[in-house]
Amino acid sequence: MPTPPAAPIADRIRALLAGLVSFDTVSDRSNLPLIAYIEDYLAAFGIPGQRIVDETGQKASLWVTIGPHDKPGIVLSGHTDVVPVEGQAWTHNPFEMVERDGKLYGRGTTDMKGFVATCLAMVPEMQRASLAVPIHLAISYDEEIGCVGVRPMLDMLSRAPVKPLGCFVGEPTSMELAIGHKGKHGVRATFKGFACHSSIAPHGVNAVEHAATLIAEISRRAARMASEGARDMLYDIPHTTLLTSIVHGGTALNIVPDSCTIEFEARGLGISESKAVTDAIVGFARDTIEPAMQKANPACGIEFEEILEYPALDMPADDTWVTLAKKLSGRNRHCKVAFGTEAGLFVSMAGIPAVVIGPGSIEQAHKADEYVELSELLKCADFVERVIAHCAQPIS
Ligand SMILES: [Zn+2]
Repeated sequence: MPTPPAAPIADRIRALLAGLVSFDTVSDRSNLPLIAYIEDYLAAFGIPGQRIVDETGQKASLWVTIGPHDKPGIVLSGHTDVVPVEGQAWTHNPFEMVERDGKLYGRGTTDMKGFVATCLAMVPEMQRASLAVPIHLAISYDEEIGCVGVRPMLDMLSRAPVKPLGCFVGEPTSMELAIGHKGKHGVRATFKGFACHSSIAPHGVNAVEHAATLIAEISRRAARMASEGARDMLYDIPHTTLLTSIVHGGTALNIVPDSCTIEFEARGLGISESKAVTDAIVGFARDTIEPAMQKANPACGIEFEEILEYPALDMPADDTWVTLAKKLSGRNRHCKVAFGTEAGLFVSMAGIPAVVIGPGSIEQAHKADEYVELSELLKCADFVERVIAHCAQPIS
């Protein structure tokens, strides 16, 4: 188990992060051993956690309350899953934390076990502060595959008698305050054509070519959004983006292909814009491409399925939660980040205001030799310290 609470904060964070990294919690694996590790740690302080187990029984979120249970509190939120390491050139075992030159290396150190370790390391301080406003830890799973695992917990919170005041999602922003991120909607389209020998091509229905018509339309719409779509200059790419990322089709040069699958996604500025954009593309395919396929052969057509979706985060800059976040983080400015997080879901599913602020850089996430600087985790500990001080003040 981690070092005792009397140890310096850096040592406690190191020990906890080494513990968290040692669990291989790639999204397709169980996170229950890691959850049990956190539960054991909290149990040493007499703090119980509430598990929300998924339908497979192999994964769980953990909801923890420190302080009063009947008052609205502040949520510190992080996911426990990590992206795969296969095919990456790691110079050491990714699931064994290594420290070198002030950097802590290992899968998930920056995205985002470093944040979770820091919050856990501050639990003794939270307990000592006799909090008037509770602090909650919201620890989730399956974030990396489309922010899936946090949803049952948010469903629970949306029905809870006392709703939290707001949430800090600790994804890596180098402790900058992010008040927005784009949403995402991904769709798979399967074109069912009619095969025949290529020497009599006009008798077939070419699934690849019909898919190509849709790909060209997606590309046209993407260009239109870039040139005349809505803009938000707080983003590096200030407009909604759209692209086809996967195409599979055809079996031989001399066969008219009867099947083609494409996958496309939109990343939109507005809360539900991504889905509106992909819905319009599906509508275009239904109205123009599918009738042409069915005219040639009524058995042909296109099937669509949703791959993933999460809403954008779009907090007003003058929201009281943003103002508090600025006060606690000691920053006057705010930004918006290109990557998706669970923050948009806290707002849209549970009505809990949320911002993103966490240690480390997204530049190091998802890569070989992922690392987080210890100094970033210490900055995060300072932030949590100020959250604790805020929550320890008597409610006026
Ligand atoms: Zn993450």
